[in-house]
Amino acid sequence: MELQSILLPGVDPKRPLVIAGPCSAETEEQVMETARQLSAQGIKIFRAGIWKPRTKPGGFEGIGAEGLPWLKRVKEELGMYVATEVAKAEHVRLALAADVDIIWIGARTTVNPFAVQEIADALEGTDIPVLIKNPVNPDLDLWIGAIERVYNAGVRKIAAIHRGFSSYDKKIYRNLPQWHIPIELRRQMPEVPILCDPSHIGGKRELVAPLCQQAMDLNFDGLIVETHVNPEKAWSDATQQVTPAILDFILNTLVIREIKQTTENLSALRRQIDELDNNLLELLARRMRVSEEIGQYKKEHNMPILQEQRYDEILQNRISQAEHMGMHPEFMKAVLVAIHEESVRHQMEIMKK
Ligand code: PEP
Ligand code: MN
Repeated sequence: MELQSILLPGVDPKRPLVIAGPCSAETEEQVMETARQLSAQGIKIFRAGIWKPRTKPGGFEGIGAEGLPWLKRVKEELGMYVATEVAKAEHVRLALAADVDIIWIGARTTVNPFAVQEIADALEGTDIPVLIKNPVNPDLDLWIGAIERVYNAGVRKIAAIHRGFSSYDKKIYRNLPQWHIPIELRRQMPEVPILCDPSHIGGKRELVAPLCQQAMDLNFDGLIVETHVNPEKAWSDATQQVTPAILDFILNTLVIREIKQTTENLSALRRQIDELDNNLLELLARRMRVSEEIGQYKKEHNMPILQEQRYDEILQNRISQAEHMGMHPEFMKAVLVAIHEESVRHQMEIMKK
């Protein structure tokens, strides 16, 4: 997969890439005021849902196309880039016509290959960045499949958004992070940047900051955070949105660990481990050869292989020595028993010859 950067001109390439804005565009004033505050803090990409997939009917299903001119105002008056969710071809056409800069495919859409294909077809020939949320269910292949469908339509500015996975049992998180899934996505598709959506994972304001930090510690490339001027009064996802001021605080207290530095130190340490393992293997092989010589001797002198007393001594001495060296006795016992078993096996081979 050959991708192009999703970074639009003027966006700081430093980690994390930040996208912020309300769950839903509600009114022109709410959109403009939220965007104004975010822009004053240096946020360059504004998000707002226009078409909202709601779990149950009767919830606020989004302002619809009526909100698109509001996003245009955000672009023109504040110079921000704007992003919104699309769930069908019609949304893609309307968003493109309204000069939306970035679109994302929501979790409830990623689960449906027909819907993703329809969106991908509508995107053919465009070069708009497309962010693909994980499906609601923890199915990595479905996520990868959606990325491939969009890629196969010719889109080259692609990123993934990790927004957690639905579960029946909602205790701490609204959607379980299951970090191993985005980590595996990174392994299988290292060229795809991954953003974290702490708002939909946490479902609660208090969880946004720790989730942002975890995502940074796992080398995620960016964050998409639901931000509202008056979160308690939000028409959708009121419990998980934060004010622009809180977001600013969260971003300023994030600890961004230098990836290069860490990986350099890490590879130096890994080289040491490789060398030590090599020494261990050589020592073990030598020990096995000596043990075979002992086997030969025992055979020639008609002695039994197992000399209980000697084995007992070895175990006791080595285990107490290991303890002095800061290792756990049970661990050392397991290692010695395994080595002894293997030595006995070698000596039995020699006896047979
Ligand atoms: C959203 O970003 O507002 C949204 C609907 O998210 P998700 O698709 O992750 O539920
Ligand atoms: Mn939301």
